[in-house]
Amino acid sequence: MKTYRDIVIAGGGMVGASLALQLGAALPEQVSICLVEGYPLPAPLAAGKPEYHPSFDARSTALSYSSRVIYEQMGVWDELQEWLCPIRSIHVSNRGRFGSSLLQAADYGWSALGYVVENAWLGNALIQALYRQGRVEIISPARVVAASPARQGMSLRVEGAGQEVFDTGLLLVADGATSGLREQLGVAVQEKSYRQHALVANVAFAQAHNGCAYERFTDQGPLALLPLLSSAPGEHRSALVWTLPPAQARDLQACPPEAFLQTLQDRFGYRLGRMSQVGERHCYPLALMQSSEQVRQAVVVMGNAAHALHPVAGQGFNLALRDVAELSSVIAAGVARGQPVGDLALLQRYLRRQLPDQERTIQFSHHLPGLFMHGDPILGLARDLALSGLDILPPLKREFVRYAAGMASANDGRGESAGGQHNG
Ligand SMILES: Cc1cc2nc3c(=O)[nH]c(=O)nc-3n(C[C@H](O)[C@H](O)[C@H](O)COP(=O)(O)OP(=O)(O)OC[C@H]3O[C@@H](n4cnc5c(N)ncnc54)[C@H](O)[C@@H]3O)c2cc1C
Repeated sequence: MKTYRDIVIAGGGMVGASLALQLGAALPEQVSICLVEGYPLPAPLAAGKPEYHPSFDARSTALSYSSRVIYEQMGVWDELQEWLCPIRSIHVSNRGRFGSSLLQAADYGWSALGYVVENAWLGNALIQALYRQGRVEIISPARVVAASPARQGMSLRVEGAGQEVFDTGLLLVADGATSGLREQLGVAVQEKSYRQHALVANVAFAQAHNGCAYERFTDQGPLALLPLLSSAPGEHRSALVWTLPPAQARDLQACPPEAFLQTLQDRFGYRLGRMSQVGERHCYPLALMQSSEQVRQAVVVMGNAAHALHPVAGQGFNLALRDVAELSSVIAAGVARGQPVGDLALLQRYLRRQLPDQERTIQFSHHLPGLFMHGDPILGLARDLALSGLDILPPLKREFVRYAAGMASANDGRGESAGGQHNG
């Protein structure tokens, strides 16, 4: 049986779910939207606390100010608040060198520099918001396994749903970094391995983090500790993202917890006192991945399928969310003018508007770890001065904060205000 949907989103991860919510809010009722997700999604919640969503992993995400603005516009920020730990300050340092800098939200008149949320809770909140919105058809568990051009747009084969073949006016590919659909469509990928893994785990400390995030650059790669909400009284947790050579990351993933904590304590020091516990450890190979094409007639590649970044400055998802907001507003404007949702000129307009932000953010994430890992003594001195300089030179510091908060891009061409409103 063939069925037609105006828009099909393939992949209901953090990007696909956000896209569904935003399009559901921005487009008129007569535009049909369908979200297909490979994992079983949680059931609508009647009351009480949601369950962890299995398809959202054990990682945490630092949401920038630009993401806050987008989620506020989507109407989900208030519900998210319960799961967010505000970042009040960021301590940036360089292991074994003198340079360090403290970036404080209060210095800018803001209440937070960003917000840390565990992916599982963010995913859950988005899915529950989708149920409440009641605008998007959700098909899960099911997978879009094939896509090919058709007269009206794209023809899709879906496995796991009642019906098997869909036609759609616009396919939004949001199936992650290893996107099978991108490959199906013959879209090439430029991939540059960092030859490093990110070791991710939650760590408990003796002392409270007081909303401080730590970004420590070491000769092997950056080590970040993001403040998390306590899950029990008196517990002080931070989310570790530790970039390491692959063999070392694997050894540290497999070694006994005591040995792991000892090594981490040696690297990080005692700023938060003694480390007492580590949760499940996961390793992610790191690469800069960019899709060679993002738009075609009736197709847009989104999220990690379009660009996967080094996690050093927590930019990947924040960038993807700005893509989501821009694409939704361009499609909504096109629909209001009577353009088909998959019209190539419309989709190209989205890309033209969003490409400068993508390029800036990718360059920032790509060059930051390299600058700090370089063994060259002149560069070493330069980065020490740069770090001290962040404290000495307010404009430089402000620029760094603007990038970290996703404002350098949010502010360009879209008229969002960077400063001043960042309260609450
Ligand atoms: C260690 C680490 C830390 C990070 N920290 C941050 C941070 O602090 N801030 C930040 O902004 N970014 C961060 N990122 C980046 C962020 O995690 C990604 O940008 C984000 O996860 C991308 O989400 P996605 O929805 O595109 O992909 P995914 O999360 O991979 O979701 C893809 C979804 O598609 C589904 N799927 C796959 N194939 C199909 C199919 N054929 N049909 C239907 N469904 C399908 C999958 O089940 C999955 O649910 C980090 C990344 C790493 C590796």
